[in-house]
Amino acid sequence: MGRWRSLAVAWYMEPHSSVAWLTERLGEAFPGLDVTPYGEVRLPVQFFDVTRGQWISNQVLGYAVLLRERAEADALLLVVGGDGYTPGLNFVFGHAVLGGGVGVVYTERLRPEFYGQPPDEELYLLRLLKEALHELGHGFGLEHCPDPRCVMSFSNSIIEVDRKEAGYCRRCAARLEALGVEVGAGYVLPG
Ligand SMILES: [Zn+2]
Ligand SMILES: [Zn+2]
Repeated sequence: MGRWRSLAVAWYMEPHSSVAWLTERLGEAFPGLDVTPYGEVRLPVQFFDVTRGQWISNQVLGYAVLLRERAEADALLLVVGGDGYTPGLNFVFGHAVLGGGVGVVYTERLRPEFYGQPPDEELYLLRLLKEALHELGHGFGLEHCPDPRCVMSFSNSIIEVDRKEAGYCRRCAARLEALGVEVGAGYVLPG
């Protein structure tokens, strides 16, 4: 199979408990990959836009590319406890290098508290998993999917994140397998 054998998970300002949970789920989702925690990282302060209170995602993504090299992993996911944006967008839930094995997820807007709702760890973790599967899907080479249930559908709001499922539609799963990434049972949507 292809070049995807290892996935490292790095994090910044994110509780270790949620990263540990996510790392386990990613190991189930991608059984052909060796999924390991890389560790907590620091982000250069100049990547933070103080006036917007958000990370400049192009820079953070570039940093994640460096981290992947340092980790000597085929793929790397960076979980950022904060908010990020790209030019022309108010915010992004995540960002990836298409086919480049690198993804970033921003968690601030995945927390119910951001929307004035009470904390809900279970809901938060499910959203985190969906966004991680989405950005890693891009990282492995998948583009957006028109099926609104599929985790590769585009999400512009938390309602859309909640609407999709934590799994790939059959078409996206088949594409991933063709790209050399095995998808675990339970992460392929029925039908
Ligand atoms: Zn996307
Ligand atoms: Zn799909």
